[in-house]
Amino acid sequence: MTKPQIVWLRHDLRLADQPAFHAASAAGPVLPVYVLDDARARRWALGGAARWWLHHSLASLSASLERQGSRLILRRGDAVSALAAIAHECAAGAIHGVHHHEPWWRDAENELAAALPDTCPLMLHHGNYLAPPGSVTTGAGQPYKIYTPFSRALLERMPPEPCLPEPKLDSPPHWPESDRLEDWALLPTKPDWAGQFGPEWTPGEAGAHVRVEAFASHIAAYENTRNLPSTEGTSRLSPHFAFGEISPRQVWHAIANHQGEGADTFRKELIWRDYAQNVIHAMPAYGARSYSETFKHLPWRDPRSDPAAQADLAAWQQGRTGYPIVDAGMRQLWATGWMHNRVRMITASFLVKHLLIDWRHGERWFWDTLVDADYASNAVNWQWTAGSGVDANMFVRIMAPLTQSPKFDAGAYIRRWVPELKGLDNDGIHDPVFPPRGYPGKVVDHRAARERALAAWAEAKAAMPRD
Ligand SMILES: Cc1cc2nc3c(=O)[nH]c(=O)nc-3n(C[C@H](O)[C@H](O)[C@H](O)COP(=O)(O)OP(=O)(O)OC[C@H]3O[C@@H](n4cnc5c(N)ncnc54)[C@H](O)[C@@H]3O)c2cc1C
Repeated sequence: MTKPQIVWLRHDLRLADQPAFHAASAAGPVLPVYVLDDARARRWALGGAARWWLHHSLASLSASLERQGSRLILRRGDAVSALAAIAHECAAGAIHGVHHHEPWWRDAENELAAALPDTCPLMLHHGNYLAPPGSVTTGAGQPYKIYTPFSRALLERMPPEPCLPEPKLDSPPHWPESDRLEDWALLPTKPDWAGQFGPEWTPGEAGAHVRVEAFASHIAAYENTRNLPSTEGTSRLSPHFAFGEISPRQVWHAIANHQGEGADTFRKELIWRDYAQNVIHAMPAYGARSYSETFKHLPWRDPRSDPAAQADLAAWQQGRTGYPIVDAGMRQLWATGWMHNRVRMITASFLVKHLLIDWRHGERWFWDTLVDADYASNAVNWQWTAGSGVDANMFVRIMAPLTQSPKFDAGAYIRRWVPELKGLDNDGIHDPVFPPRGYPGKVVDHRAARERALAAWAEAKAAMPRD
């Protein structure tokens, strides 16, 4: 009998086009294992919203495996020790996994490879990105720092290879013990703040494919609608990608017959995801540190020591800033675990520039509240918006939320998420002159905020050492 092959699952919770499952099933009976390892990721242990998603995604994968007569083994604790112990107990022939590039996963991969005996190697496969992160380089072999040339180089390598079929899994002679998913308490109870998540989302591989099909039918309109938060113009695939329930290659091929501006722009957005991963591949600490030196001298308002900044941060988190578009976005995020991309940019810019609060406070809040929280995409987009990143907007380009809101026709979106304002018409809703009872006044005046941000930037520039 060939030895059991462990599949180490992380953010790759699918059966089709999953290279670890594919390779393992070709080599012997398959033992799928997911280890919930909170300690290793430290600050980036899964946030509350992502835990809700994880629960349902694991339940869905487990049901798919059981339909094939297989199982999903769940363990909690240090991933390296748990996998090495299962490999020993089951006399496994190999552990297969999909490469992950977050710094804590790279450490875990190195530790696991070193901990396993020669008879049970760790075999890592690429499959969560259009191209293996780190493989798209400049002519000089350096990582691209700027999105546009990266995107051009990646496009030259497209289309991606054909997708792998769903594997047929044989069972091992012995199943190791498994935790019960319910015992992990991933779902919130007191209070159950995820009440609106259920109607909004269907976690799991099947749900991801339903989303792709639904989106493909209106992909032609993507170019015109993707920036309008009041419409369902985008795919909402991000949490499915974040948990690896579908591969970008599957999506690329699913829309291959769609030509035109809408489909082309969508493909470029998919490439942003690869780009972000390449940035953290080259700079693993990108989620923790501003790339720009000038930002180290910015006189941030610190919520940990300044009660006014703390109150402003809380107002932002709760959607009570007095800026309707910002409040709508922050409330959509809390209620559904997701926020429209245009509004992510507006709310992020507001925190960093209007409130002069370090982008890392925002990154942390998004990490805890997004169902699609992704180390690379979150850090790259926060640093892009702040102006602190490798390829970034300038800090001194300050987005005006009150102008953005009518420009992107956000009236219906605001009415949905800020019910205090639902009686206002399109003229009044973006910037109510007399805010209705219960709706807060502005935490800061736009012009005063802008002047404060520009003065802070001048101070940071002046503090930079001269060559
Ligand atoms: C401050 C800020 C924080 C963000 N944090 C995250 C995060 O933690 N996780 C995350 O997946 N996205 C993040 N994004 C990027 C973007 O907002 C989401 O990917 C997008 O809103 C998801 O919705 P969608 O699937 O409908 O996107 P679509 O418009 O349908 O795009 C399709 C896919 O392309 C990818 N994509 C699109 N835009 C971007 C982008 N700017 N950067 C990286 N990938 C992109 C996503 O995988 C997305 O699912 C962030 C953006 C900002 C401004």
